Amino acid sequence: MDTTAIEVRNLHQKYGDFEAVKGIGFQVGRGELYALLGTNGAGKTTTLDVLEGYAAPTEGVVRVLGHDPFRERAKVRHRVGIVLQEAGFHKDLTVAETVDAWRRWTPHALARVEVLERVGLVHRQGVRVAQLSGGEKRRLDLALAVLGRPEVLFLDEPTTGLDPEARRNVWELIRGMVADGVTVLLTTHYLDEAEQLAQRLAIMHAGRIVTEGT
Ligand code: ATP
Repeated sequence: MDTTAIEVRNLHQKYGDFEAVKGIGFQVGRGELYALLGTNGAGKTTTLDVLEGYAAPTEGVVRVLGHDPFRERAKVRHRVGIVLQEAGFHKDLTVAETVDAWRRWTPHALARVEVLERVGLVHRQGVRVAQLSGGEKRRLDLALAVLGRPEVLFLDEPTTGLDPEARRNVWELIRGMVADGVTVLLTTHYLDEAEQLAQRLAIMHAGRIVTEGT
C-alpha cells in the first residue's frame, strides 16, 4: 500500500493576477498529523481548498490518497472529511436532526449515537444548534466530518475562537482520530497547537513555506 496520503508538488494558486500560493511542496504520510502554521493571508486555506477539490491548481500537482482531488473528485470525496472555518448549520435544527440530515447522504455513515459519543455531544442531542456554545459547535463540525469514516481529515483552524478548555477538548478529539489511524492536515495560527498535535509542520508566510520540520 502507498504510505503517502497527501502529496503537494510545486503548487501555485492564483486569484486573477494575485498569486496566493507561490510554489509549495510537502507530503503527509498515512496516519500522520501535519500542521500548516501561518499568519493571516499566508495561503493556508487556499492550499486546503485545492486539496479538498474545490479548485484545480493553477500550476503544480496535488494528490490525495493517490488521486487528483479535483478531476477525480468522486474517487476521493467519500474518503475525506472536511471541517471548514465557518460551519453552515441550520440553527433551528437540533443536534440529532443535524446529524440525521447528514447521515441521509453519507454512505456507510456511523450511527448517530456513536458519532455523538465520539465528540461528547450525546447529552446535547435535543438542543437546537443556535443554543450550542462555540466549542460545542466545533465538536458538531467534527462529528459531521467523521460521520462517513474518513481516511483523511482536513481541519481549517479547528480551535480558533475557543476558550482554553474547549481547545483542549478539541485537541483530545483530534488525537483520538489520529490514534484511530486517520490522516489529519490542519491549519492553525497557534504555535502551541501545532506543537501539541503535529508530528510535522510547515510554517507558511505570504504564499511560501518558510520552514518545515518536526
Ligand atoms: P487566514 O489565516 O486569514 O485564514 P490563510 O493563510 O488561510 O489566512 P488564504 O485565505 O489562503 O490565507 O488567503 C491567501 C491570500 O489570498 C490572501 O491574501 C487573501 O486575501 C487572498 N484570497 C483568498 N481568497 C481569495 C479570493 N477568493 N479572491 C481573491 N483573493 C483571495
